[in-house]
Amino acid sequence: MEIELDIKKILKKNKKKVTSERIDIFDYVVKKHIFDSNELLNKFPEIWRASIFRTINLFLEIWIIRKVKSWKSGDSYELVRWEHSHEHMECWKCWEIISFESDKIYQEINQKAEALWFKIEEKFLNISGKCKKCSKK
Ligand SMILES: [Zn+2]
Ligand SMILES: [Zn+2]
Repeated sequence: MEIELDIKKILKKNKKKVTSERIDIFDYVVKKHIFDSNELLNKFPEIWRASIFRTINLFLEIWIIRKVKSWKSGDSYELVRWEHSHEHMECWKCWEIISFESDKIYQEINQKAEALWFKIEEKFLNISGKCKKCSKK
């Protein structure tokens, strides 16, 4: 599926109000890989704190972003890329996040869930360790 990057269209499609705050926040996160709420609070001091959190929740609700667990920054988020999913490996020495893709993992998870009649709503793969650079030290 194509990446839908038109936030106005996405909001309208989901029957949500288009506001300049939502557009500004979207424009910022679309250029980021992983971000957290503190980052948005610092980046947008003019937007009300509650409004930032509401926007994050809204984006989660309509599947624009997903939650990502990070050892370094706790609850973080990233844009959902519809055309493929990826997961992360996080280095606990330099905090570098290395992304990888594997359709096999998802196939396996989906098959297991189906066999167990389990409806997946969220999934996190938490993989941490030492990156190549840090292993050499
Ligand atoms: Zn990612
Ligand atoms: Zn490292």
